[in-house]
Amino acid sequence: MSSPAGVERDFDLARLTTVRTGGEADFYARPSSNKAVVELLAWASSENLAVGVIGSGSNLLIADKGFRGLVIKLDGHLTEVHFEDDGVLSGGGARLPRLAAKTAEHALSGLEFGVNIPGTVGGAIRMNANAYGGELASVLEWAEVASPEGIERRVPEDFEFTYRHSNISGYQVVTRAQFRLTASTTEAVKAKLADLRDRRKAAQPAGIKTFGSTFKNPDDPRAAGRTAGQLLEAAGCKGLEQGGARFSPKHANFVENFKDATTSDIVALIAAGRERVEQQFGVRLETEVQVLGELDTALWESR
Ligand SMILES: Cc1cc2nc3c(=O)[nH]c(=O)nc-3n(C[C@H](O)[C@H](O)[C@H](O)COP(=O)(O)OP(=O)(O)OC[C@H]3O[C@@H](n4cnc5c(N)ncnc54)[C@H](O)[C@@H]3O)c2cc1C
Repeated sequence: MSSPAGVERDFDLARLTTVRTGGEADFYARPSSNKAVVELLAWASSENLAVGVIGSGSNLLIADKGFRGLVIKLDGHLTEVHFEDDGVLSGGGARLPRLAAKTAEHALSGLEFGVNIPGTVGGAIRMNANAYGGELASVLEWAEVASPEGIERRVPEDFEFTYRHSNISGYQVVTRAQFRLTASTTEAVKAKLADLRDRRKAAQPAGIKTFGSTFKNPDDPRAAGRTAGQLLEAAGCKGLEQGGARFSPKHANFVENFKDATTSDIVALIAAGRERVEQQFGVRLETEVQVLGELDTALWESR
């Protein structure tokens, strides 16, 4: 089967991620309709090509050797948002901070927490993103998921959401989502957005190349209620360097590409952090960041 129109070859993926590392995808496409996404998935499936989806690449690590398959990034209609009286219909490729900011104009409350999550709606559903008590699943009414067979509309229970997890897998792309919001006032929503921005500014480094939290917060009694960042800091990881990568001097759970890092640098750093925490506290940290492509080191498999 010949490739659908618009499929590009050997596309550099590093610039599609917030940490800016990694290699090329064999195939890359930017579909702007449900139909185009289904066509791409059907083609990839018939050619036995792996499929990866990139939203804002804000929780993503691309292998230095790249990705042997098709990478899809939503475009056009699938990045638009349409407000209604009590909610919003959003493309899976719409950016969450922009969507959250727009809810103020429409005096609708419920998505403010998204102002600090630099991802897309599709990526946030896939990752069950949350922040400061706001949670995606609590305002999601339904989402459309494309697969090689067509489009399926799912309600939140169908996604089996748990901490930073949903059941969306390989050949599935979240193309649109409907959120049900609560009537408020522009002033109240704006005030909440400003408060959340301020709290984030105080807690996290800004303007760095990072994919946010590296490890999930552990659910292990030996952690004694400490977050992954607190354990890393106590284990002396703040500022720890490997090649061009380091654990941020401001927030130990953030890996920073501070000097032309490669993905291999980052993987080695992550392994070193995990090792230190395990030796000191007996807690084995699990990574939150997602991976596209095969990492060329056994270090990653040790997670
Ligand atoms: C500075 C910073 C702060 C952050 N703060 C938070 C926070 O407070 N809370 C939080 O939860 N996260 C946070 N994150 C992590 C990240 O922003 C979220 O996980 C976000 O939901 C990822 O969305 P994305 O579009 O960037 O996904 P990507 O990073 O592009 O992809 C992540 C995963 O989702 C999949 N995916 C992306 N789009 C789709 C789609 N349309 N359909 C199916 N699968 C898809 C990808 O294939 C990949 O497996 C932060 C990241 C950074 C850099």
